[in-house]
This record gives sequence, structure tokens and C-alpha cells, in this order.
Amino acid sequence: MNESDADYLSQGLTAAGFSAVADLDEADIAILVTCSVRQNAEQKAYGRFRELKAWKRARPGRAIAITGCMANKEKDRLYERLPDLDYRFDMRQYEAFIDDLQGEYETDPAQTGGTILQHGLTAYVPVIFGCNEVCSFCIVPFVRGTERSRPLADVVDDVRRFANQGVREVTLLGQTVNSYRDPETKAGLATLLEAVERVPGIWRVRFLTSHPRHVHDDLLFAIRDLPRVCEHLHLPFQSADDAILKQMRRRYTVDEYRAIIVHARDLIPDLSVSTDVIVGYPGETEEQFQRTLALLEEIKFDVVHIQGFSPRPRTTAARQADDVAPAEKKRRINVLLEAQRRIAEEANRRWLGRTVEVLVERAENGEATGRTRQNRVVIGAAPLGAQVGTVRRVSIENATAWQLRGQVLN
Ligand code: SF4
Repeated sequence: MNESDADYLSQGLTAAGFSAVADLDEADIAILVTCSVRQNAEQKAYGRFRELKAWKRARPGRAIAITGCMANKEKDRLYERLPDLDYRFDMRQYEAFIDDLQGEYETDPAQTGGTILQHGLTAYVPVIFGCNEVCSFCIVPFVRGTERSRPLADVVDDVRRFANQGVREVTLLGQTVNSYRDPETKAGLATLLEAVERVPGIWRVRFLTSHPRHVHDDLLFAIRDLPRVCEHLHLPFQSADDAILKQMRRRYTVDEYRAIIVHARDLIPDLSVSTDVIVGYPGETEEQFQRTLALLEEIKFDVVHIQGFSPRPRTTAARQADDVAPAEKKRRINVLLEAQRRIAEEANRRWLGRTVEVLVERAENGEATGRTRQNRVVIGAAPLGAQVGTVRRVSIENATAWQLRGQVLN
């Protein structure tokens, strides 16, 4: 989401006559797009701000701005805490921030021709902001507000603009992307996927992050039947213990989660499934943790993102004792990582001898690197070359936990 925020900001600033510079020393203004989902993300932002202070003081006229979740969480307290801060703004009103800047700096959109930044091959497109879930550990609803879906036509316009800039793969974003509803027609994510994949030049469509409570058949059919929608579902389960899930207010049981995955895999051949897990939630016992490990072994996810519990202000979980010691959280993370490394290798070995479609993202020294529809990294020997931005078929000869290798077919 932050990458997407930074992208939209850059596009807006460039259209207003500002230009991005590669070297910070040449810049007049630096903007930090911050995250507050975990305590260490905030620490990183403060660390980066400290570095920028010296940069700002080195030349009069320089300014620092902060946006993103931390800006929303701390509000104007940030100015007290960071006296060198010049601007704090809510990403929901980033256009007003750009208007303010235009009053402060002399810019001339005609100078840049309003040139919009060129993209790489992939782009993130937010389709729904905020979240209506009330997970006990999560700060997102407090800093990003309740759900607001964008009109379907606006999303399609953005995708068309990206396609014209050379983007070939888009990822539709939302904290609970599968509760998307077009404000006017109430059309859901499946309809949006269909509209987006019709945009000329777009070859692949993905979406992140789904909530298990909102996975319905129309979405699964869309993944199965729409040729440009990739066979990939990111579906966090967080814990495989029903008592912990209840405390987390995830509003599903382990059995319900399991049933969704079994059903989705039945419907969609070669579906890849990734997930998020939290270990060391307040009161999580060894036995409860072992259930999470067992679910990893049972479901065999393609990718698992694992975090230790981090208490966030204003959340219900922050009022409980954070009683799993940091060292124990680390141990649990490592146990899961080690299991997942083995599982991922087994999962990748299933591709040996098969031919996959790869969107080439890099091509150099006789090798092409890209990802499959299932989001697996593939490196293919391409003695006759392979052009970036093309889709090539690669026969897989070698598999590790993290990547597949093979030959690009002509
Ligand atoms: S669904 Fe995701 S974003 Fe929403 S409250 Fe739960 S964890 Fe946070």
C-alpha cells in the first residue's frame, strides 16, 4: 500500500511540475511515506527522519514531509516531536498537499510538460481503502479509517494509464480487497477483475489482501476463468488455534479456513496460496503455537509471511499482557521459517519437468528473470535473448525453495 501511495504521490507531483531526482543532495523536499503496522516500522521512519535532519539543515529552503499511517496515527503531535518537520499530511488528501507545495515552490507544469513518471512492468492500484474488520491486534482501521471502495471506472482509468506507460501486470490493492464494492453498482471484486483484465496491454492481474470471511465462489471462478487473472490467492490465517483466532476477532475457525483452501484448490488447478501468520500473540502457549506449525505442514503454502506479535496503541490486544518473551517469539518464527523453507522447496520441485509462462522482468548475460502466474521467481537460460516485458515459456529443470531454473523456449 505504501509503495502505491508513493507512486500516486510521485505521479501527482510530477504532473504539478516537480521532478524526481535520483540524488537526495539535489532535492528541495523529501517525503517519507510511513508505516505503523509494527513498532519497528515506526522506529525505522524516525531513524530515517534523523538522517534527513542533517540534510535539511545543510541548505536553506529544504523541507521534510511525512505521510502514511504514522502521520495519521500521531497527527499534529508529530510537529512537537519532530521540530524539523515541515509538512504532515493524510494520504487521503494528498492532492491538497500538492496544492500547498505549489504555493510554496515555483513550479511550472509546462516545463516538465506534465510528464508522468514512467513505470516499470508492474504497478499497484488501490481499489479499496481502510478496513471494516476489527482484528484485535491491528492498527489499520484506526489509521486508514473504514472501508471506501473506489468507483470501478476510476480503477479502470488508472489501469489504462499504467498500461499506456508500459505496465503489463497490475496488483489491485486493499486491506480486505475482496470486500470491494463499486459504490454505485455494488459490483464486487470478480466484476472489477473482469473489467481490469480487458484493458489493452495488461497481461496479468493480481490482487491483495483477501480476508477469509469474504472469499466467495464468484471470486474463485474469476481466478479460474479469466485468462489474465493469475492463479494466486493471498489469504492470511494468522493462527491455527480457535481460541487465539477468537481473541484476535478474525471471525473464522481453523476448520472454516481449511475448507476454503481445499475448495479453492479443487476449483483452480495450480493455485498458489500465500498467507500471513502472527506468533507470540498474548497468551499463546506452546501447544497453540504447535497447531500453527501443523497447519503450515498440512496446507503447504507457497509463501508464508511470519511476524512476532507487536502491541499497537489503541488496539484491544495492546491491553493484554505481551507475555511471550521476545526470544521465544524469535524461536517460534525460526521454527516456522525452517519448516516453510522445506515446504517451499517441495512445492517448487513439483514444477520440475513442466513448462511455465514467465513475464520477463530482467534480461541480461544470456539469462531471463521473471515470475510465473503463481508468482514464483524463474531464471531461464536464454542464449538467443529474451525481451523484457514479454511473456516467454520456460521449461523447468531445477528447483530450490526460492526459485526455479530452466531454459527459455523459442
Ligand atoms: S482485516 Fe487486516 S487490515 Fe483489517 S483489521 Fe484485520 S488485520 Fe487489520
